[in-house]
Amino acid sequence: MAKPPGTRDLKLDEPAIFERSRPGRVGYSFPEPDVPEPEALPETLLRKDGLAGLPELSEVEVVRHYTRLSTWNYGVDTGLYPLGSCTMKYNPKVNELTARRPGFTATHPLTPESLAQGALALIHNLERALCEISGFTAMTLQPAAGAQGELCGLMMVRAHHVASGNPRAKVLVPDTAHGTNPASSTLNGYRTVEIPSGDDGVLHPEAVAAAMDEDVAALMLTNPNTLGLFETHIAEIAEIVHAKGGLVYCDGANLNALMGVARPGDMGVDVMQFNLHKTFSTPHGGGGPGSGPVGVAAVLEPYLPVPLVAEHDGRWVLDWDRELSVGKVRSFYGNFGVMVRAYTYIRELGAAGLKRSTELAVLNANYLRVMLQGRYHLPHDRTCMHECVLTDREQKAAGVKTLDIAKRLIDLGFHPPTIYFPLVVDGAMMIEPTESECLENLDQFVAAMQQIADEAESDPALLTGAPRSTRLGRLDETTAARKPVLTWEPEGE
Ligand SMILES: *Cc1c(COP(=O)(O)O)cnc(C)c1O
Repeated sequence: MAKPPGTRDLKLDEPAIFERSRPGRVGYSFPEPDVPEPEALPETLLRKDGLAGLPELSEVEVVRHYTRLSTWNYGVDTGLYPLGSCTMKYNPKVNELTARRPGFTATHPLTPESLAQGALALIHNLERALCEISGFTAMTLQPAAGAQGELCGLMMVRAHHVASGNPRAKVLVPDTAHGTNPASSTLNGYRTVEIPSGDDGVLHPEAVAAAMDEDVAALMLTNPNTLGLFETHIAEIAEIVHAKGGLVYCDGANLNALMGVARPGDMGVDVMQFNLHKTFSTPHGGGGPGSGPVGVAAVLEPYLPVPLVAEHDGRWVLDWDRELSVGKVRSFYGNFGVMVRAYTYIRELGAAGLKRSTELAVLNANYLRVMLQGRYHLPHDRTCMHECVLTDREQKAAGVKTLDIAKRLIDLGFHPPTIYFPLVVDGAMMIEPTESECLENLDQFVAAMQQIADEAESDPALLTGAPRSTRLGRLDETTAARKPVLTWEPEGE
């Protein structure tokens, strides 16, 4: 049996903090007030439910409660987190040190520009670095995440077409796209037209040419796509779209497979969002803040959201005076703390380091692909980029599905990969190790996956009943999501 990494069999029982509450218990001791009691509020204004139902606990009970809960969390600091498309790379702690510098944390978002020169300079420098990495001419850092970046990018596409007299009606999206692509298109009032990718997993110029006409506002393409494959025909496809006056949007969430090696701006792309929280190592997951800057080619520059950071007489200022701008897309100037982290990462690695991280991310994904392809079906048998997609086809005969494999990985100490996405691959397991992992960690993951392939043949019930080592076993996921039971029920009582 593969030796599991980290800790297994965590079976801490922890009730909700409300259930630990005992009336009158406190975590503070204030001195008696030495000022006169204020006049009592009129009876009608007083709440009838005491402390509004807030939990009452001692300090140590509060500390223990949250410390215990924190140990239930699985994150990149715990172990391999191979969620394909999500890029759960390690977040270097130096990023946190810079983001916590008092000069940044104590700057109020409404601080006058003259007193926020350092923050504005950082925004400008990050913009320039991202333009250099991607090959675009200008950029906004406002959007709060990838999906909002897409929305903002398509707003600019629309503004461009409106300025030329016709907003156009359709956006072309390949069948491998992330769900946020059609959503961004719809929110901008466009009809999404799905383009089939070829049997080799990439988009072909003929398929785009067949769908392309003068009512198409843009093609949205993810490169590398969600199968982890480089869209080899991108330059030719961009020409086809441009020839009919359309624009090319690139979903840049997977830029970690390109940075330092190739630039979307050189491939005919007009507009692209970055996911700083994926490619540039800032924390994400669990709803934490992200950042989705949008880079544009010169054709879309006039439409960038306001304000932009600009230089004026040797000072940094916020430029609001942009007639054709699509307006503001986010309060203040976006998630600044995330920008500090991303800027730190870029400066720490430098050009050579960024390129090296791309190479290692691609190498690690290909290592897993080669080590596992004898045991799992590999739908696209070619060199992948930063992630590889396997399926459950070999295991299905024994009644074992992708979901069972994913749940069994939990018993063996690993966070499962992304499953059942992309939708075009039946029973997909999308594995993205990132550059953070060393060879030994990859080998442990391979051993666990190989063990699962063995078990699927010898003892499939081990898989269909997994996980067993967690406090809660296999949940009915639909019911768990729609009717969650959030109170604590001790086992066996
Ligand atoms: C993550 C991702 C998105 C969405 O980004 P968010 O920051 O989660 O909004 C869009 N497209 C692709 C390909 C992604 O991987």
